[in-house]
Amino acid sequence: EIAPVVDELGNRFAAAGHELALVGGPVRDILLGRGSKDLDFATSARPEAVEKLLAGWADHVWDIGKAFGTIGCRKGEWILEITTYRSESYDPTSRNPEVSYGDNLPDDLSRRDFAMNAMAVRLPSHEFVDPYGGLADVAAKVIRTPGSPEDSFSDDPLRMMRAARFAAQLGFTPDPAVVAAMTAMAERITIISAERVRDELVKLVCAKYPRIGLDLLVSTGLADHVLPELPALRLERDEHHRHKDVYEHSLTVLEQAIELEPRLGGTEPDFISRFAALIHDIGKPKTRKFEAGGKVTFHHHDVVGAKLAKKRMKALRFSNEQIEQVGKLVELHLRFHGYGTGEWTDSAVRRYVRDAGDLLSRLHILTRADCTTRNKRKAEALRSAYDDLEERIARLREQEELDSIRPDLDGNQIMEILGI
Ligand code: ATP
Ligand code: MG
Repeated sequence: EIAPVVDELGNRFAAAGHELALVGGPVRDILLGRGSKDLDFATSARPEAVEKLLAGWADHVWDIGKAFGTIGCRKGEWILEITTYRSESYDPTSRNPEVSYGDNLPDDLSRRDFAMNAMAVRLPSHEFVDPYGGLADVAAKVIRTPGSPEDSFSDDPLRMMRAARFAAQLGFTPDPAVVAAMTAMAERITIISAERVRDELVKLVCAKYPRIGLDLLVSTGLADHVLPELPALRLERDEHHRHKDVYEHSLTVLEQAIELEPRLGGTEPDFISRFAALIHDIGKPKTRKFEAGGKVTFHHHDVVGAKLAKKRMKALRFSNEQIEQVGKLVELHLRFHGYGTGEWTDSAVRRYVRDAGDLLSRLHILTRADCTTRNKRKAEALRSAYDDLEERIARLREQEELDSIRPDLDGNQIMEILGI
């Protein structure tokens, strides 16, 4: 199962007297039966030597971070990243943590995040190295740290986010000791840069099982620091009015949005529509009012929600474009429900299309996914009403496209277009 390109590189390093091993994600993924064109390696060679060895062999070589000892290259369809062995994890009390290079594979593996990521295959011998029982963990689908989770997470609190991210990607369960450490140490995540937290959050939301990862973030308290508006959606239920749990609803809408995602025609998960689905009701806790007769209302939670969404995304250092896109989806998602069903005038439909702009396909997904209520018949009625609206929009667009080209065409051209 080891690709020829891997052996080729292994031979090249061995001939120059350096150790090389396939490590981390790709080893885990081979065991899971999922191949990838991205490969990570660890080596005894220093970055300068790695660069030289790659230069005469790869199609393209680049410096990913010489400070961290990582050189990247492309060879055919393969993307390879080669990182020099590291020894001790950096001293967190030092203000200026420096990379200290190591001279052996076991030390390098000992500072990795999880046992399932601390496996390696030495090259060119194909000797399998698994000091922490990663193979057993993969078989049992559990996430454990090589040493104590407390030590690991105080070395690098981002690993707590990574545990939730891998749980979401792989459908694995973190070991109880890992969950306990995440719960006890959640607050430490605040020392990590917003960009690194954001990158893990994006991977989590774009994963196959985002609910698993999000439930972990919320139940351990990590979400209170990275996305506090999410746990806030767990509005207390009132026995008499049986008010629905907006958090549960949001996860359901996210899952329905994921099912509708193929409509976008892309091959990659769409973070924007997923994240908008997750936080579309983010304005509800702030706008909730209990009215006489026990009715609960959320006045303008779309507008308030859009503001909250943008503020949070800004804090997480998302791009302005992403912030605007999610903000707009959150703001527009209520209009369909607000207008009521079936009563739309043509100009209301046009305004909807114009306001959505190039977000229309995503708005369709979000609004359609949001057509859920506990009452199954009501939900079905909502869905078919929205399908009707989508059809009307499609018809209106076709018609307007024709209207806009008609004046410039003469009879012959029109006959040609119509195939007459
Ligand atoms: P993917 O690339 O599919 O997201 P991956 O397992 O390759 O998953 P990366 O984030 O690319 O994950 O990291 C590559 C490897 O580096 C990991 O498998 C792990 O061994 C190690 N690693 C990455 N980040 C950390 C960290 N914060 N602490 C310890 N080890 C880490
Ligand atoms: Mg990787």
